[in-house]
Amino acid sequence: MRRAVCPGSFDPVTNGHVDIVQRAAGLFDEVFVAVGVNRSKSSSRLFTPEERMAMLEQACGHLDNVRVAGFEGLLTDFCAENDVAAIVKGLRAVTDFDYELQMAQMNASLTEVETVFVPTSPEYSFLASSLVKEVARFGGDVSGLVPPLVLEALTARLAERA
Ligand code: ADP
Repeated sequence: MRRAVCPGSFDPVTNGHVDIVQRAAGLFDEVFVAVGVNRSKSSSRLFTPEERMAMLEQACGHLDNVRVAGFEGLLTDFCAENDVAAIVKGLRAVTDFDYELQMAQMNASLTEVETVFVPTSPEYSFLASSLVKEVARFGGDVSGLVPPLVLEALTARLAERA
């Protein structure tokens, strides 16, 4: 069984994430979507780890071989504990590349886990959770950029915080 992981904070999950997870699910037998639950960063998040995981469960519900999990600490430890052979990352633009290459090489030096880069679909290349939140906060229409359930949760959370 070849297992892969798509890691991230998914605050919240966007259509760009779902696209990468879906493509990873076509390449591997089983895919974990691993949500970083690092407590030190939690104050800067709009959604709790549990909320982010619940949104992912629904957004990836159509993919039979995808499982959502939380992880704390090193991603390479998560890979070792769950028999994961590859980390799948989406690359949006060359600006992602420097950091992702460094991270991939560090992870490989820790456990020899492979990193597989998947080029983002052109329609999502500008898409980032941070930008979606920023645009939504100022009333912009992000309905084509996130799954409908995320749009609902985002609208509700931003209204609470306003
Ligand atoms: P982080 O918290 O690491 O910035 P995100 O939760 O925003 O991560 O995204 C997790 C991963 O999903 C990214 O590292 C990247 O590989 C991928 N990703 C994010 N947005 C897109 C997108 N629009 N297209 C393709 N891949 C993406």
